Amino acid sequence: MKRVLKWVGIVVLVFATLAGMAWYSVFGGNSAIVDGELVPGAHTVKDGFVSAVVLDAGPGKVALIDAGNDASGKALLAALAARQLGPDAVAAIFLTHGHGDHTAGCKVFPGAQVYALADEVALVGDAAKAVHPLHDGEITRVGDLRVEAFAVPGHTRGSAVYLADGVLFFGDSAGATTEGKVTKAVRLFSKDSALNVASVKALAIRLRPRSGEIKELAFAHTGPLQGFAPLEAFASQQP
Ligand SMILES: [Zn+2]
Ligand SMILES: [Zn+2]
Repeated sequence: MKRVLKWVGIVVLVFATLAGMAWYSVFGGNSAIVDGELVPGAHTVKDGFVSAVVLDAGPGKVALIDAGNDASGKALLAALAARQLGPDAVAAIFLTHGHGDHTAGCKVFPGAQVYALADEVALVGDAAKAVHPLHDGEITRVGDLRVEAFAVPGHTRGSAVYLADGVLFFGDSAGATTEGKVTKAVRLFSKDSALNVASVKALAIRLRPRSGEIKELAFAHTGPLQGFAPLEAFASQQP
């Protein structure tokens, strides 16, 4: 009996080690989400392992980049309440993609217009009651906020990067390491990893002439990086 227990113990230990190694290979080295002001007018809200962003759109009016993983929207509602706003203040939600950890909170804000790239609408499914399809390069105005959409297929078919307030919002299409480097989308959860890398590189080349506009790079599951340079470095490292 004791021998059996010993072997069970060894097997459990081996599995725990392998699980730990797998976890580290996926998430290790990533910087942590930073809750709070990203740049003036943009506020990161940590919702467990993911983040959403509240963007000022004028008096009493905001837009969101993604809606978080929590169907009750607790963290987002608290962030709005902190500035004396209720759920009705959310005029628009820009979804980076249709994975549930980014769309779960949509229905907490029934007055919001929900946007995603046309290729992503099917994946958003019934997480939102209606989704406005965007095309690559489209500019949407919400109050005095301007949001520009870019197609970066790979993590999902219709993944978007948004530019607003001088911040590029990558969703899951990229991340940041603690050493200040841009990383590709997590392969395990991505539809086409090679396409993801090619799309992020193409976006870097496309935005190079506008690099002065880019103050910050923001990612849904990690902390942000400052300026355009980390994106430029990512692009130059890819074949
Ligand atoms: Zn995702
Ligand atoms: Zn995600």
